[in-house]
Amino acid sequence: MPHERPTAPNRAPSSGWAHWLLGPEAEGRGAVKLTLLALTVYGLFALNVAVQVNLGLMESGPGLWVSSLSLAGITAFYLLVRTGLSRHLGSDPTLTLPQSVFGVLITAWGYAIDPPLRGAIIAIMLLNLVWGMFVLSQRQAFWLYLFGLASLGVAMAWGALTDPVHFPPAVEALHFSFAAILMTAVSVLSVNMAKLRAKLGARTTELRAALERIQYLAHHDELTRISNRRHLSERLAAEQLNQRHSGQTMSLVLIDIDHFKNVNDRHGHSVGDAVLRHFAAALQAALRSTDFAGRWGGEEFLVVTPQASAETAAALVDRLREALAATSFDSLVPGLHITFSAGVAECAPGEDLHLAIERADRALYQAKQTGRDRTVSEFAQL
Ligand code: GH3
Ligand code: MG
Ligand code: MG
Repeated sequence: MPHERPTAPNRAPSSGWAHWLLGPEAEGRGAVKLTLLALTVYGLFALNVAVQVNLGLMESGPGLWVSSLSLAGITAFYLLVRTGLSRHLGSDPTLTLPQSVFGVLITAWGYAIDPPLRGAIIAIMLLNLVWGMFVLSQRQAFWLYLFGLASLGVAMAWGALTDPVHFPPAVEALHFSFAAILMTAVSVLSVNMAKLRAKLGARTTELRAALERIQYLAHHDELTRISNRRHLSERLAAEQLNQRHSGQTMSLVLIDIDHFKNVNDRHGHSVGDAVLRHFAAALQAALRSTDFAGRWGGEEFLVVTPQASAETAAALVDRLREALAATSFDSLVPGLHITFSAGVAECAPGEDLHLAIERADRALYQAKQTGRDRTVSEFAQL
């Protein structure tokens, strides 16, 4: 079993006000910051509207309506993103598309009620398109562009029809063509950006999969799929540190398949490979959750049993022996029977690992010398 720690949610360092404004988790803070920036922008526009009303450039009624509705809307978006409720509302917890659509509607409305500054408001429509550039898909970016242009077109047509003094139709037509040129250019950039992001996303996924594969190959034996010697050595060293803290004995078991060369010689290398795979699977199944094992080399395996005496480790070996006796290799070669010899060494806390492995090797040698298909134990040298 790999030693995996449960991952704690990634908490951002929080000083009081940042915690309240941005939330405790680092992951969602980018979206909260952006929504907060939008809220600031809307606030500044509300101030601008107040100044226009004061100067008599805009009627107070519509000015108050557009300011309060836009601030209420963006505050609602901020609360949804900040509290994390937005995660339950759809696939994009940043709510970028709804925020952009809301921005487009407010901007078109602003255009219709602000004749003197309506030219400048076209620039705000561009901001709506740019806002989603880093989040929206190509399709979303394209539809947002069409929606923005159409909304502005409707506001212009409505102005020209209902109030041609302040919205002369010819000027509105020019405004529209001006907006169309700018918005089309920005939308081409935005769609290209989405394309680039999609490519980068696919590349990142490929790289992540390749990295996982490389890590797997670096840690596992290709034939048997269990830990390789390098990984086993790393885990053994880590286990020795644990053992120093706990002060408990652990045991090592070296296992070697008996007369394996004969299997290869009589039945061929591929049968030998299949036997190794079966053997590794049986070994893995016999382990307790705290034990770990790997292929030490050729037809040799090493088992590490933390916090276990030689007796406990020998009992594990007995289980493996029983499991193997019950395993049928008939599908490979009818009547094929596999046995193994094992050397168990207890390892006292702080004892040199190499010495403990050497003792397990000596015990294994004795098991071979005394007839094979058996287990010999050596105890800790204190
Ligand atoms: P003993 O009981 O003394 O251990 O005898 P043995 O035949 O098992 O030991 P020996 O060391 O003489 O032979 C081990 C054989 O294991 C030789 C080698 O070709 C074979 N072997 C090692 N790795 C692999 C492998 O990945 N696949 C196959 N098919 N055979 C392997
Ligand atoms: Mg061997
Ligand atoms: Mg052998």
